Amino acid sequence: MRNVSSGFWIVLALLVSLPDGLAQRKALLIDGQNNHQWRETSPRIKQALEKSGLFAVDIVTSPPQGEDLSAFEPDFDAYQVVVSNYNGEPWPRETKAALEAYVRGGGGFVSVHAANNAFPEWKEYNRMIGLGGWGGRNEAWGPYVRYRDGEIVQDATPGRGGSHGTRHAFQIIVRDTGHPITRGLPLKWMHAEDELYDRLRGPAENLTVLATAYSDPSTRGTGKHEPILMTVQYGKGRVFHTTLGHHTLAMQCVGFITTLQRGAEWAATGKVTQAVPEDFPGADTTSLR
Ligand code: ZN
Repeated sequence: MRNVSSGFWIVLALLVSLPDGLAQRKALLIDGQNNHQWRETSPRIKQALEKSGLFAVDIVTSPPQGEDLSAFEPDFDAYQVVVSNYNGEPWPRETKAALEAYVRGGGGFVSVHAANNAFPEWKEYNRMIGLGGWGGRNEAWGPYVRYRDGEIVQDATPGRGGSHGTRHAFQIIVRDTGHPITRGLPLKWMHAEDELYDRLRGPAENLTVLATAYSDPSTRGTGKHEPILMTVQYGKGRVFHTTLGHHTLAMQCVGFITTLQRGAEWAATGKVTQAVPEDFPGADTTSLR
């Protein structure tokens, strides 16, 4: 009887440890090299994902810049979603091939802010993130993508890829209200102080722009509605790309937190089960946690 009884309690303990009856999904956050304060921002990303109740997050930190990366081989296949806070030196050929195979085979991938600056020379990475900036990117990488006259348009005008004006709070406008990530969000919301990325370029294949922001010339912007939140279908894999999150202040924005949580869930599962929080920012007012 003792065995039966202890078995019962083990099963019960397993059941009650699962939030809302859902199994926790495993997320892998990659950092270690970035021209941003990744030691401060990675804990914010991890906390946001874990506070959703949906993810257990492991962090894998690469060797520092200038050191040998040849043994840097995260086990992507052990995770439902891989989140990149990495903008650094190229990974070994095997590691790049492993990420390509993982996402192509149905794994989720999330690119946060400067992760879209990474790997300009890695063709498949550029296809995964859809659009990128800096690192010499220009028209050879693909078009600009903007919202103009009621639709998302591609613009092949030659020029640099990647820029931003002065940091400021800016309004984000949802352009795809039917996508699981943005469904139910206010149409317009005020993001906390951040960099508004502009002039991103890339192959933009299988790219869906979920939300844009007006890049105002008064803050040294382009005068165009630039893509801010995007998804990409890469093989069977789902990619969520947020250009937001320059620093911890930007990551305190409830809009950043909410869209990261929803984007990661969608990348991992294809669905979003999370409610929009009460403290989501208004059209003209920021909201920080
Ligand atoms: Zn930045």
